[in-house]
Amino acid sequence: MRYCKKCVMPDSRPYMKFDKEGICYPCRVAEQLKKIDWKKRWKELEMLADQYRGINGDYYDCIIAASSGKDSYFQVHVFKEKLHMNPLIVSVNNFTWTKTGEHNWNNLLKEFGVDAHIMSLNPQVCKTLFRKALEKLGSPTWYFDRAIYAYPYSTAVKLNIPLVIYGEDTNYLYGGPHTEETPSAIKQITNDVAKPVPWEVWLDDKITMKDVNPAIFPTLEQINKVKLDPRFLSYYMPWSGYKNMEFARTRGFKTLDDTGEWKRDGYLEQYDQIDSVGYLTHTWFKFPKFGHQRVTEVGSLWIREGRISREKVVEKVLEEDWKLDKKMLKDFLNYINYKEEDFWKVVDRFANRDIVEKRDGIWRLRKNVEQALRNGDEVKI
Ligand SMILES: [Zn+2]
Repeated sequence: MRYCKKCVMPDSRPYMKFDKEGICYPCRVAEQLKKIDWKKRWKELEMLADQYRGINGDYYDCIIAASSGKDSYFQVHVFKEKLHMNPLIVSVNNFTWTKTGEHNWNNLLKEFGVDAHIMSLNPQVCKTLFRKALEKLGSPTWYFDRAIYAYPYSTAVKLNIPLVIYGEDTNYLYGGPHTEETPSAIKQITNDVAKPVPWEVWLDDKITMKDVNPAIFPTLEQINKVKLDPRFLSYYMPWSGYKNMEFARTRGFKTLDDTGEWKRDGYLEQYDQIDSVGYLTHTWFKFPKFGHQRVTEVGSLWIREGRISREKVVEKVLEEDWKLDKKMLKDFLNYINYKEEDFWKVVDRFANRDIVEKRDGIWRLRKNVEQALRNGDEVKI
């Protein structure tokens, strides 16, 4: 196992590649992005907008796959206000909301004056599938994530709106199975956020294919018929979650710091993924499996953007990244009706003991792994 010398990303993260100098792939991508001619890329985006503007007469001319988050504010601003498109927002409803997230969602529609199409997933199906995904994959909200990816595509096909806009290309920017730089988001469904798992794994007497429609990706035939053209905005404009947050705040977006609603344990910031509570238990699960979660991810982004030193992030990772916030866990366990002691037994099953060890009954990075993190070095595991 090794840590990047520049950021704090470990190669235990799935698909994470390093070069001979011990620098991770996303750090190298960040260097490449500084050389891009962004004016030229913006022109390409204007041409794309010209191609689709008015394609459906007075009906919507593009779909923006969005949530109540800071990036969605930026996406809607660009397409509605700068490119003068008539977008339809397509979103999958959270299973629980923070008050701050509810404010941000309502404010997004009001502030920019847009229509939204929201899929609220069947809570009975969610509950059953979250429990199954927790126990089988250690990825509790697999079904929800799958719906977030599939639903904008299937809605675009049904409504005959070919252009679908996503925010950042997570595979290219942060590492994943598809690492080539491309404006097209067509391969996104096979990225690793909600990996393809055969439906037979999930179905039983109570849950059939009729119950999982929101998470079904359209067929190739349907995609070709509509000439579906999903795109990443991050290909056309420099992408920074931090800058998007700063922009969104000028348009009424609030962070958890702004509202004082909740100071999350296990986090470096209080502005990213702040709309849901229990969902973040899923995010935390990366820690026992791979030895990192949100502090590592956001901290690495900040290092690449020159916002913070590696030493400071290392300190924060050691201090916070292993923590599972009590409110997150309680909310998630309530939703799936699960006992906390049974949850921790599942965690024990998935914990990678080469990377983490129990100290005072809590999963933490092993001491030699912590040392490798500090040094930006390799460790034999
Ligand atoms: Zn790196």
